[in-house]
Amino acid sequence: MAFSEKIRNIYKEELKGIEEAGIFKKERYIHSPQAADIEVEFPKGSSLKKVINMCANNYLGLSSHPEVIKAAHEGLDSRGYGMSSVRFICGTQDIHNELERKVTEFLGTEDTILFPSCMDANAGVFEAVLGKEDVMISDRLVHASIIDGIRLASAEHDTFKHSNMKHLEKKLQLHSDKCRRVVITDGVFSMDGDTAKLDEMVALCEKYDAMLFVDDSHASGFIGKTGRGTHEKCGVVGKIDIITTTFGKALGGASGGCVSGRKEIVEMCRQKARPYLFSNTIAPVVVAGVMKVFDILSASTERRDKLEANSTYWRKGLEDAGFVLQPGDTPIVPIMLFNAKLSQDISNDLYEKGIYAIGFFFPVVAKGQARIRTQISAGHEKHHLDKALGVFIEVGKKYDILGKTKQEIIEMYGL
Ligand SMILES: *Cc1c(COP(=O)(O)O)cnc(C)c1O
Repeated sequence: MAFSEKIRNIYKEELKGIEEAGIFKKERYIHSPQAADIEVEFPKGSSLKKVINMCANNYLGLSSHPEVIKAAHEGLDSRGYGMSSVRFICGTQDIHNELERKVTEFLGTEDTILFPSCMDANAGVFEAVLGKEDVMISDRLVHASIIDGIRLASAEHDTFKHSNMKHLEKKLQLHSDKCRRVVITDGVFSMDGDTAKLDEMVALCEKYDAMLFVDDSHASGFIGKTGRGTHEKCGVVGKIDIITTTFGKALGGASGGCVSGRKEIVEMCRQKARPYLFSNTIAPVVVAGVMKVFDILSASTERRDKLEANSTYWRKGLEDAGFVLQPGDTPIVPIMLFNAKLSQDISNDLYEKGIYAIGFFFPVVAKGQARIRTQISAGHEKHHLDKALGVFIEVGKKYDILGKTKQEIIEMYGL
């Protein structure tokens, strides 16, 4: 036993510092399945409260879909609970391979490899496919898991200003001496809900002989006319060299992720990617559920169409009410409040009135960019959105922020 009082106190102090900075994360316990209507225990020990969930990544409302649950049950019955192995030893069932085929077909790529999560896909891919003589050029707002993957790779790293194609071109010119160049971006950026300019990026990558990497975790299943993702929306299906995405958001919301793209890249990951080689295989029950998700999405665009209509309705409702929104056309609709405490106060008031929506502030977003990020789902019905809109307006009036500009809100509440 070497956990001395001295060591304990170091941790206590650090945790106290996190609390004092007002960034201590407290979890809310959900007692129901994930859905538009959920039952929540918060604070811990209080009685259950029915609220409308406005901040899940359950974009397509498939997290508790009866057909997905049924398929998962059948997978559990026919293939068992766990595989107790990584893929390359004895952790590969036929259904893992079948799911990889389905993903490849859906995304319009050459091949796909599953990972325990998209975090793992991003952590493993760069190290597996790049070396010291190469360079990774990433958008400055890419997801934390990509940043970790970049840290683990031996290739040089550089960045370009968010979605700034002139700056990206400069960086591509600067690194023309490297062996391989890979440009790295999110498809839809999770905090702002804006979309990468993949058509322009493809053109630049062709001009400067660079590969293009896109993390489409906030797009797969619903962005683009048939929900293939950002590459479909931007008209560049088949032109993205590496796509990573998660099954933990729109695609059923359980867990798992993948790298999909050029077949040699996928094969390199199968041979060398450490989270693939050294972490357990995706459980059969999850594989069976995700396969059903792809069947549902391949059969009809009904769910992504409903999501699009819901998102438009929600955004317009907030806009008409006079909130300051981050511009965009995805189901991610951030309501800008700028001040961190204001975002917390409003989130608490919303919760009191039956609306679950979390406030985000530094370091999750930049200082002075605090917001409530709402996320729309095909699982929302019009009555959910109308109820939520009514509550947002009520709370907006209380804080007198309706019809106010960014500058006016900052003058009232500070940064
Ligand atoms: C959520 C998310 C991930 C992580 O996905 P997991 O499968 O939950 O690990 C990776 N990248 C982006 C852009 C994400 O939004």
